[in-house]
Amino acid sequence: MTPERYAKIRRVLARRQPTLTVLMDEVNKPHNFSAILRTCDAVGVLTAHAVPPKSGALPTFDATSGSAHKWVGVQKHADAVTAVRSLQEGGVQVLATHLSQRSVDYREPDYTRPTCVLLGAEKWGVSDEAAEIADANIVIPMFGMVQSLNVSVAAATILFEAQRQRLSAGMYGVPQISPEELERLAFEWAYP
Ligand code: SAM
Repeated sequence: MTPERYAKIRRVLARRQPTLTVLMDEVNKPHNFSAILRTCDAVGVLTAHAVPPKSGALPTFDATSGSAHKWVGVQKHADAVTAVRSLQEGGVQVLATHLSQRSVDYREPDYTRPTCVLLGAEKWGVSDEAAEIADANIVIPMFGMVQSLNVSVAAATILFEAQRQRLSAGMYGVPQISPEELERLAFEWAYP
């Protein structure tokens, strides 16, 4: 571990956003799972959340992740409803990517608040039950012939809006994790 590499690790951790995350509900394709993690790393997500597909295990990472899985933790949950409730109990607003009567444009919510973006499975999307208990339903407006975006593209679009708002609010300029946590994680990342 060179001093330069250790300094980079500390710089990245100083910009991590522990109050920004995603919940991937049964996202089952390795390339989508990996691409979402890579975007999470880019915007500073510290820990992502995931409900494994029915097969039981989380998807494996492929080259699409660009090693992001080393820098973004993944917390597993049994099901989406339990995960949403547990995040909400921790003071996190859950924004479900779901088309419904109450859907709003994804740029409307305040992403400087503790926020989790709920992403649905490639085949069936976010369940109605999880969408109902979410704090808001959000959509990326689309004007084409195809009805939905690839889940990793949707994740990136929304997470970079969160990054834009957080940059304006100065949230990348001041460490969002405590100095002790930063030092602990720096050591863990440097010497896994
Ligand atoms: N047939 C599914 C449905 O009806 O929801 C399509 C799922 S889509 C391929 C997979 C996921 O990508 C969605 O659950 C959502 O998380 C995200 N997504 C796709 N298009 C979106 C959009 N326009 N706005 C917000 N999220 C979108």
